[in-house]
Amino acid sequence: MKEYDLITIGGGSGGVATARRAAEYGARVLLIEAGRLGGTCVNVGCVPKKVMWYASGIAQALRDAPGYGFAEVAVRFDWATLKGRRDAYIARLNGLYAGMLEKAGVELVRGFARFVGPRTVEVGGARFTAPHIVIATGGHPLLPDIPGAGLGIDSDGFFALEAQPRRVAIVGAGYIAVELAGVFNGLGSEVAMLMRGDRLLRPFDAMLRDELSAQMQEDGIALHFGTQARALRRQADGSIAVDCEDGRTLEVDALVWATGRRANTDRLDLAAAGIEADAKGVLPTDAWQNTNVPGIYAIGDITGRAELTPVAIAAGRRLAMRLFRGEADSKLDYENIPTVIFSHPAIGTVGLSEEAARKRFADVKVYTTRFTAMYHALTEHRPKTSMKLVCAGADERIVGAHVIGDGADEMLQGFAVAVKMGARKADFDDTVAIHPTSAEEFVTLR
Ligand code: FAD
Ligand code: NDP
Repeated sequence: MKEYDLITIGGGSGGVATARRAAEYGARVLLIEAGRLGGTCVNVGCVPKKVMWYASGIAQALRDAPGYGFAEVAVRFDWATLKGRRDAYIARLNGLYAGMLEKAGVELVRGFARFVGPRTVEVGGARFTAPHIVIATGGHPLLPDIPGAGLGIDSDGFFALEAQPRRVAIVGAGYIAVELAGVFNGLGSEVAMLMRGDRLLRPFDAMLRDELSAQMQEDGIALHFGTQARALRRQADGSIAVDCEDGRTLEVDALVWATGRRANTDRLDLAAAGIEADAKGVLPTDAWQNTNVPGIYAIGDITGRAELTPVAIAAGRRLAMRLFRGEADSKLDYENIPTVIFSHPAIGTVGLSEEAARKRFADVKVYTTRFTAMYHALTEHRPKTSMKLVCAGADERIVGAHVIGDGADEMLQGFAVAVKMGARKADFDDTVAIHPTSAEEFVTLR
């Protein structure tokens, strides 16, 4: 049986980051990956999604161009060409990841790992042991259990589409649902969103939700709130009939389930090591990423907390510092994690929504603005930009910063540093604006 200092199960965002850092600090590291290196983010998540978001942004820019004096041009978009180029980019990234691991001295074993004891895992009959084992196996899309559900696709299926469907239904109201709806719509598909609740992006600030709902509708996306799919049926012409619980039937060429994800724990044989998971397969961890079994840690999506790539990476790197560089206090602070939703327009948000802040603090003051970004002064398509600063206490500490509008995706990172550092409204007021930008509105709010 081969021995290591650290075994990382999963070669996605969290696993790769942990393994590389630990190896850098001198640990002998084994990384086990069942699928493609880079995990969800690189293969069926952030990266191919952002490529599609750019494509749909380019389509919008072409529609905006006549406003800037460009003659109208008939542009033909070919989904298959974009997919081919996107897949080639990702294959390059898979290779880069393999190269990075090799350079760092991390050993790679391909296959599904399962526990055979609290210090030992097995992959295809071979056994490996280490005093520290990190579980970073991520998750996979979850489909509702209704008749014909398999006629729909999930986000993995979205990335496998070889051709653009003309009419699409998207079920769900979270990150993935709004992002994919925006991509399809921007590229010219007819899009309907089916949402069981009365709002999209439920946990986010109401300003963001309302502005995005209004803009999506303005852009031609049909938002069906309070609507659940009851069954899917294949029709004679190949289309899909979506029977809804309210008696309506929609006819589409593709349906995408964006109804949440489930943790990848089923194949790990957690019981063999005595590791506890909740009913959804999520591994509960303490502030130090420890599971209930000493020496076994969990990071990233498998922990069910802030399912974002930089969170998995940050938690893994800090764990490596704690285990192999003697930094006993090294752990990730899960407060004030900034996040961007690549909707059209994009959303950037950090900290508490106004609603959450009012629950937590007695003294909350909110500053908002809503305007048309200068770029749209000359375009027919005129989405609004909205911003909000949520401040708490007599000294107006900024506990939430929210923006929806062009450029929100690139705008928020720097403001997130300020919020994390405990900036006050007066600090924002004291910062000279950069003109003409949308971001300057954040420092001129009154
Ligand atoms: P993963 O990246 O999922 O990696 C887990 C790896 O473990 C996989 O490669 C899997 O094959 C492997 N594995 C599973 N079981 C085993 C086993 N038993 N043995 C060996 N290997 C195993 N986050 C952002 O920050 N920004 C975004 O824009 C963004 N967009 C997203 C878009 C989509 C459509 C999706 C689905 C997610 C998106 N995310 C985004 C979330 C992000 O992808 C995840 O938070 C991130 O990938 C989590 O990393 P991880 O290491 O926990 O798991
Ligand atoms: P989310 O938790 O964001 O959304 C899940 C959605 O599914 C919710 O709207 C929920 O509705 C709905 N839902 C759940 N079950 C059902 C059901 N049975 N029928 C109808 N609707 C249902 O998860 P996603 O899967 O969209 O994304 C997973 C995670 O990945 C995100 O939380 C995020 O952390 C990450 N991600 C990050 C991105 C980014 O950084 N830009 C992009 C994509 C994903 P309800 O609101 O009513 O509960």
